[in-house]
Amino acid sequence: MQNDYRQMWSSLGLDLEAHDVLLDVLNKAYQDVFLSQKGRPESMSYFDFVISEVHGLRIKELLDAKKEGRPVIGSFCVFVPEELILAVDGISVGLCTGAEFAFVEAEKLLPRNTCALIKSAFGFKQGKVCPYLESSDMVVGENTCDGKKKSYEVLRDLVPNLYVMDLPQMKSDAGRDLLAAEYRRFLVELEKLSGRTVTVEKLQQAIRTINAKRKAVGRLARYRHANPAPISGLDALLINQVYFYDNPVRFTGSVEKINDELDTRIGSATGVCSADTPRLLVSGCPMAVPNWKVPSVVEKCGAVIVAEESCVGERGTRFLTRETGDSVDALVENIVDRYYQIDCAVFTPNPSRLDHIREMVKDSAADGVIHYNLQFCQPYQIETGGVEVALEEQGIPVLRLDTDYSSEDIGQLSTRVEAFIERILG
Ligand code: SF4
Ligand code: SF4
Repeated sequence: MQNDYRQMWSSLGLDLEAHDVLLDVLNKAYQDVFLSQKGRPESMSYFDFVISEVHGLRIKELLDAKKEGRPVIGSFCVFVPEELILAVDGISVGLCTGAEFAFVEAEKLLPRNTCALIKSAFGFKQGKVCPYLESSDMVVGENTCDGKKKSYEVLRDLVPNLYVMDLPQMKSDAGRDLLAAEYRRFLVELEKLSGRTVTVEKLQQAIRTINAKRKAVGRLARYRHANPAPISGLDALLINQVYFYDNPVRFTGSVEKINDELDTRIGSATGVCSADTPRLLVSGCPMAVPNWKVPSVVEKCGAVIVAEESCVGERGTRFLTRETGDSVDALVENIVDRYYQIDCAVFTPNPSRLDHIREMVKDSAADGVIHYNLQFCQPYQIETGGVEVALEEQGIPVLRLDTDYSSEDIGQLSTRVEAFIERILG
């Protein structure tokens, strides 16, 4: 099987030696961070399998689907509507942006003070190690933060099939109109690429499929409100990360299986920790695979993460798309309504994000908030100030962590998290 995969990776133009190094690091990290945890739900074995095959079986599935004429669409942001991709029988995949790889090469094209997430997208391309990127028939960039929108001008030379979607920066009538126009333009491109015309039935079915996925992770989020926590924050994050790669129907079924297991656990007051374990909410920048550093530090220090206010978490999945409508146009409007509510820090002003953090703290009975920022991410770093003041005024302790993808600051992060936990325990 490995031999087949090597041929497959080679046919995608991957640098096999560099790719071996990446897989080796990924496997070791997974053993250390995930498989060493105690008391995991048994149904997490599906996700262990998915990660063990993340560059193998799933890529084979994508290539088989491409042979049947289904396009693969890679993207970097939760504003790219999966429903439209599925409506043309396309497959949506999140692109690897969670590891430090070939940063020396990336920094030849980008300033050093670019966030790790953007450098990672470049590093994976320049290092030729991402089979998702190389399998994509279209790579969708989006004009969100300045770092992303300017870097796409450079990425275009490396990724000829890059499509850039413009996005609003303000929640206004004009902003909503822009989003609607961009989604319609995207739909036309998808129809051209796939050779298929979207029908009401197809789009409605796609909306139902993606809503089912969101409902499953929503149910999981609610189970995490229980005390003792029935699942670790790391495992819940992993599920939210796999959300971006897996077959949506299979993913939904696998999450619902875990949900049923958590239901039983809660019934018997079984948790992954004791009921007096400090409960933390993590808020801020998204954590793409395999960015597990901060949650690993937090849970190794003895706290449990009970919610993520993040695009790889509830910010990305909390809203459903209305399923009713008797024309493609009406259904596209429903999609615009749904995505327009996402409160990414690139919007100005962005008051609903603070409201959501407060609501999530209350619902999850969190004892404190870790505001996680990637260094050089101005939107989230600047927004942290107001969030921190508002929550502290309300008596909710906040720890701000600014970090990157390197392992150099793990000791320092652990010291700060330990001190924060002591503060919470009083
Ligand atoms: S944080 Fe903003 S730019 Fe990043 S994935 Fe989320 S919505 Fe997109
Ligand atoms: S983490 Fe911040 S700076 Fe980096 S891509 Fe996302 S919004 Fe932009």
